[in-house]
Amino acid sequence: MHLSRASVHDQHKFGMEAGSSVANMQIVFLGTSSAVPTAERGLSSVAIARGSELLLFDAGEGMQRNFIKAGLGMNRKMKIFISHMHSDHCVGLLGLLQTMALQGRERTLDIYGEPRVQEFLRENMRIINFFLTFNIDVHTIEKDGVVVRENDYEVRCCSANHSIPSYAYCVEEFDRPGVFDVGEAKKLGIPEGELYSKLQHGEDIRHGDRLVKSSQVVGPPRKGRKVGISGDTRPNTELERFFQNCDVLVFESTYSRDKQEKAIENWHSTATEAAVLAKNAGVKKLFLTHFSARYNETSVLVDEAASVHENVEAAEDLKAVEIPYPD
Ligand SMILES: [Zn+2]
Repeated sequence: MHLSRASVHDQHKFGMEAGSSVANMQIVFLGTSSAVPTAERGLSSVAIARGSELLLFDAGEGMQRNFIKAGLGMNRKMKIFISHMHSDHCVGLLGLLQTMALQGRERTLDIYGEPRVQEFLRENMRIINFFLTFNIDVHTIEKDGVVVRENDYEVRCCSANHSIPSYAYCVEEFDRPGVFDVGEAKKLGIPEGELYSKLQHGEDIRHGDRLVKSSQVVGPPRKGRKVGISGDTRPNTELERFFQNCDVLVFESTYSRDKQEKAIENWHSTATEAAVLAKNAGVKKLFLTHFSARYNETSVLVDEAASVHENVEAAEDLKAVEIPYPD
């Protein structure tokens, strides 16, 4: 196990790096109950499969069964983000790591969270003494901001408002290059290959005695996707800002509005509060999750949220949803 600070590689300017400019994105709910599981709902965990990579948010106890059912793959490139150190959000890490080892995972696994994530893993692995076949890099988060920056997306965190330190996360893709107009490039007599690539990446080129601007053959940059995950929290204006314009927001909705006092007492949100925040933040699609075990039916929660926000759905264990590009 290595210890390192959340690392930020600064070599890529926002919006400039094309990399592979298209990646499928799918969100898969692995656990949607709060505090105690029910027959239908496991403890908190949400996966975002993006291209060949998996981003996992929280690992409540027993989540690995749904992870396996969803066929997400134990040996793929993966980052795990822990929102906070309540057992229904982190205890499942131990079983997941052990299963990965038993299946011979070799790739390094990156785990992100507050300082006690490191301590939790170290102590449990010392006591349970299980053998790992791969390295774990634990990235300790000490403040709000960027926790991961890859070629074409970043993950940021924002302090949530819960009974213990808790982070909300946002996955945000950088702009993709605009559409390349091959017809126009041909008309300008530019040969295919390297010059196409330069133009596509925003570079103006010289062809013969002529200057060809990238903007002559490439359309305006295309927006990437933004997906937010609340973890456990009361709603507040910081989170509203943090989740501004999310294409998809997964927000905790532990209670219905008639349990407002309980929500305040336990540092959670009601469905109405989740919807108000999502509406104020300009969120396109809201998924409610982290339901109190008292709700056999989540329709009451969806109905009250839907009276505030026009695009609301309840998360369910193993529900998988494609997230298309905004254009
Ligand atoms: Zn919780």
